[in-house]
Amino acid sequence: MSDPGLPPFMTDSSGGPPPVSDGSFAQSMGAFGALLKLQQNISERFPKSKVPWNETRKFLKASTIENIKSTSLYKFQMGLFKEIGLGNMQLISYAPMHYIFAVPNNPVCNFYPALQNQKVCVATTDALHRFFREELELECSVEETECIKNGDPVCKFKVDLQPISAYQIMLDKNDKMILSGVRPPVDENELKERVRALTVYKLLEKGKLSEIGNAYMQFAGTMEVEEKVFDPPWKLQEELSSIAETHNTFGGAFGEMAQKVQNTQKEPAPEPKPQVSEETKQLQEEAKKTDSFAELLSKMKKNQDGQ
Ligand SMILES: [Zn+2]
Repeated sequence: MSDPGLPPFMTDSSGGPPPVSDGSFAQSMGAFGALLKLQQNISERFPKSKVPWNETRKFLKASTIENIKSTSLYKFQMGLFKEIGLGNMQLISYAPMHYIFAVPNNPVCNFYPALQNQKVCVATTDALHRFFREELELECSVEETECIKNGDPVCKFKVDLQPISAYQIMLDKNDKMILSGVRPPVDENELKERVRALTVYKLLEKGKLSEIGNAYMQFAGTMEVEEKVFDPPWKLQEELSSIAETHNTFGGAFGEMAQKVQNTQKEPAPEPKPQVSEETKQLQEEAKKTDSFAELLSKMKKNQDGQ
């Protein structure tokens, strides 16, 4: 198509807007501008958002939606996504290594005015994939499973973590001691908590090393993993609010304000409850299937054989 009347980017297929079949020109241009702004925000914010493993570990080990939502990493991610223009995302379903995020009134749907009756929110899928891979170093696949543009009530995104990369970050020195049958220097409660997490992740079974745990330990035993220690990207903000909390005059008011803000954030956006639990059930069923674990095992065994 040669149309000398259009500015050059309109004919450039790389990074341009999707083909316009209907919807007005102005609408498409506005949407294109919003998409560019989002890309710009991502390029600016993501490189400063690397998360240290000790924080990602807390996120991975949290095994209820409530616990996950109370981790600093979750709050940071949702805040970041909102600020860069991806809407009000929230976790609605969880099974180990599988997360479903929903975005009610997803602004990203409006980035593609010409597309109808399909799942269109590629920008969100890409951002989630990039966040998990680059900021958390977790290999994963991300898929939009429901979309407002396709007639669904909210947009939903399913994130599936690759087991080996999840284990690699989740297991610290003490967990590896437990898996090796050695009691780590931690108190009884912490030990119980660690055993619980390792059982949830199928590395332990009835207090003993599972087949998966055994395969992973043989595989990981030969790997020296260097863990980089640095401050999480939300450290400054947390410090500021803690300073405000400890001052009881001027700061006292700020502390109260911070509390208020937090409470507002905690308020869950409307979500149809029965549907959520049904979905969680499905997800948990899916997680029970041995497919991904069997795959993991065979990969590990292959790796061992090759050595
Ligand atoms: Zn969507």
